Amino acid sequence: MDRPLSRACRALLVAAICCLGGSAHADVDAELAALAERFEAGECGNIVDPLKALRAKLKARALRDIRLDYMYAVCRCRQPGLKMLRLMPQVFRRLPRADRELLAVATDNCAAERPTLAVVTRGAVGVSGKGERAVVMQAAGRVDHSARFRARQFERGRHDALIAHLRQEGVSGPAVPTAHFVLVGPSASAALGRKLEEALAGLGHALGLPPPPYLITAHVFDDRASMVAHARRHHGLTMPDQLWAYAIADDTSVTVDISRGLGTFGHEVAHILLDTHALYTPPWVNEGVAALYEEYRRNARGRLRGVFRPTHWRVAHLRRGGRLPLWRLFALDWAAFDDPAMLQLNHATARFFALYLQAQGRLKAVLAAYVDVDLPDVKPAAEVLEEAFGQPLAEIEADFDRWLKALLGPVGDTAPPPRNPDGLQALDEADEALSGDAPTSKGAPPITPKGR
Ligand SMILES: [Zn+2]
Repeated sequence: MDRPLSRACRALLVAAICCLGGSAHADVDAELAALAERFEAGECGNIVDPLKALRAKLKARALRDIRLDYMYAVCRCRQPGLKMLRLMPQVFRRLPRADRELLAVATDNCAAERPTLAVVTRGAVGVSGKGERAVVMQAAGRVDHSARFRARQFERGRHDALIAHLRQEGVSGPAVPTAHFVLVGPSASAALGRKLEEALAGLGHALGLPPPPYLITAHVFDDRASMVAHARRHHGLTMPDQLWAYAIADDTSVTVDISRGLGTFGHEVAHILLDTHALYTPPWVNEGVAALYEEYRRNARGRLRGVFRPTHWRVAHLRRGGRLPLWRLFALDWAAFDDPAMLQLNHATARFFALYLQAQGRLKAVLAAYVDVDLPDVKPAAEVLEEAFGQPLAEIEADFDRWLKALLGPVGDTAPPPRNPDGLQALDEADEALSGDAPTSKGAPPITPKGR
């Protein structure tokens, strides 16, 4: 291993392990620490198998760890290591700048050994921010938090242990257990718990994904200041003004300021399901599907569907900016996706493309390409779509354009939303005709999306 990579490794692994005592995953953290030490000592050649085995152990628990992926990728170096190094900025959120630079160095070093594998794609370094979710990790970043976050994961049924752990960490307020959640905070209530359960069941059915193996902690606040203080204290996050909810996969939690409405629970619970079962979804899938369920309803069969509303706030961004070409959408890593100058358009394009996939009955097929798929095996987006549709990407994109135009009118202009209820009705009917599966439950939408 050459000198820059050595330096880089040390930087990544600084403060790698903490909080071993009492963790629900202490065995994993101890193994990780031991392997990190050997990695540091330059034993790459001897630890490929143990790294692989530990990755499998984490995967079985619906966990992932970027340091582990990094070590595995570097030690494999060629395929699949090079591919993993390139994909990491696309699939891990909010990497601190130092880690992005590190991945770039490792990728270059690895590619230098196999020039024919070297391609130009590499995410821009140094963009941070979560835009409309706008969570900005503190300098320590997600990487350093991972063991502490993992210690908050408790299997279903262990509500008391989770609540005790949260209390130990200084989380106060009422705590309400439900089958899959522990609601905690000033706005925790049994009524809200029922709504969350219904949302989880509806989304799980719509996406074909079972609940996570761990209890979901829902931190619920009824004012912004309390949520901001909690985010800083509990998750090490700094939250810009426009944010009122976020999900953290590493401790299976959602945090919401419900004074802004409940619709955002759909978005955040979708993130939890995706991050549990489709660990390596790129941002266009992850945010597109989550945004799809920002506003939803149950159709005539009781199935939960993301909905189109002409006055939805994301529509204005499409009208103003026009949509991104799909190839650009697919190429975005998390930093580029959340680039403050572009994030609204990126999210809007991703949401409407997910809405299109739902309308075409292809959403589950596309998602299936990422469920239980390991990082080195993630296929390029174009390949995923061409397989799901049985059509070349150019044809899919042309059809998406026609569909979008019928829905919105020409995008990129500032005309008011089309007043064409018949058109929308027809779309809804086509949508329902394509919904195949039987409903799991009936009744009104479990959550009233904000603004509806
Ligand atoms: Zn999101």
